[in-house]
Amino acid sequence: MTVAASPVPLDDWFVRDLGGLYQPWQAAPAPSPELVAFNDDLAAELGLDAAALRAPEGVAVLTGTAVPTGATPVAMAYAGHQFGNYSPRLGDGRALLLGEITDTAGRRRDLHLKGSGRTPFARGGDGLATLGPMLREYVVGEAMHALGVPTTRALSVATTGERVMRERPLPGAVLARVASSHLRVGTFQYAAATGDADLLARLTGHAIARHHPQAAEAERPALALLEAVVEAQAALVAQWMDVGFVHGVMNTDNMTISGETIDYGPCAFLDAYDPATVYSSIDHGGRYAYGNQPQVAQWNLARFAESLLSRIEDDPEAAIPAATEVVSSFAPRFARHRSAGLHAKLGLVGEHRELAEELITLMAEQKPDHTRFFRGLSSAARGDASPVLDLVVDRDALDAWLGRWRAVLDDQDRPAAESADAMDRVNPVYIPRNHHVEAALDAAVAGDPAPFHRLVDVVSRPFEERPGLEEYAQGDPSATGYVTYCGT
Ligand code: AMP
Ligand code: MG
Repeated sequence: MTVAASPVPLDDWFVRDLGGLYQPWQAAPAPSPELVAFNDDLAAELGLDAAALRAPEGVAVLTGTAVPTGATPVAMAYAGHQFGNYSPRLGDGRALLLGEITDTAGRRRDLHLKGSGRTPFARGGDGLATLGPMLREYVVGEAMHALGVPTTRALSVATTGERVMRERPLPGAVLARVASSHLRVGTFQYAAATGDADLLARLTGHAIARHHPQAAEAERPALALLEAVVEAQAALVAQWMDVGFVHGVMNTDNMTISGETIDYGPCAFLDAYDPATVYSSIDHGGRYAYGNQPQVAQWNLARFAESLLSRIEDDPEAAIPAATEVVSSFAPRFARHRSAGLHAKLGLVGEHRELAEELITLMAEQKPDHTRFFRGLSSAARGDASPVLDLVVDRDALDAWLGRWRAVLDDQDRPAAESADAMDRVNPVYIPRNHHVEAALDAAVAGDPAPFHRLVDVVSRPFEERPGLEEYAQGDPSATGYVTYCGT
């Protein structure tokens, strides 16, 4: 089916450029689609007519039932290392790229559906998604966006009217997702594995033009692309660490070339600060634990580098030293971003790496609530240390550190009160607390979306303390062993 006046003007640069990396496909029809959540803020950013998209014709587009004029929906091909094991053919098993929109700032953004039915990449899967996980992707993505972390965002979640069989029958849903692109490390792995040099060349050129155009000017553009992606991911993962985010499934197919966070499945935010924290029910070895994320990112980037070798030098072997050097630069780049992030969180203007690292060591021992602790430090800067002291067992150890930190703050050109205000602009009051996320999703699945909408509102303004929202600033009182199940 095609709608006459398309509510979404779509381009198809990916499709025109990258034959060999997709299969044209149609979404499965949704019997009675109904919007559960629609992102007006994002629609405005995209220059889309929200009223038209909320109307039945619009919802038909957002669920894949109707294809906008001129669009070529495709299932994208990619490979990937999942928990370290290579799968040569993953791809969009239950997702479709509808095309690209130019937003009001002139940026090209993908519009993509998830949960829109089986595709040629579905393998054993049913091609479907259920409401809870799609809403998790929506609320966590909005929280990340509001926290200033690069991320894909949800434009909408609609139920399909179908029941989807999981551990019990659940409402089926389709997520409409916006990303600066869906090019992944796994896309390069797939292209490289085909042995089709022209395909890999086209993909490399496309990625450079789209995300890292300065690389085109370099002597070896593919090496410059690698470096740009290493830098973008180092910056991204540092931001995850700063806000206490655990992605949960950092497979190479879930790592973007753009540097945006993608695929919110078994993800969660830390309550207590503990680098060993794992939330995913399938991550038995703790491969994707909070504290392992930088190392895993670098491991993934090494897989990216391998896929690019033949683009860096005609003889791939000869490209290894230069590529290795760039991949190895991840660690110092990450350390620099993380340190800058921590300095900002601590209100520090000069270089005080040791002081920052001492605090991280102390937190790993004392395991205070990550978000409340950092937010509480601005009170300490203003003279009341009780909000942070109350979060630790060994108050003397923290008190000693606070003394050293206060001395540095007092010594800065900036008054301590100004530092405290600056800290409040980077240390959130509200994150999507795991128990609130679960409660909101459960309510929505049971037919009441109100708690979900309230939670989205809360996390969309994370730095501004608002009366009446106290419960959203608290950790889970029963936070032992929170587990998220892989979002299917
Ligand atoms: P994910 O863990 O969500 O990143 O997905 C990993 C791979 O499994 C991707 O190729 C997905 O398209 C595919 N996949 C996940 N769930 C389903 C499903 N219900 N039906 C078909 N494919 C799926
Ligand atoms: Mg994925």
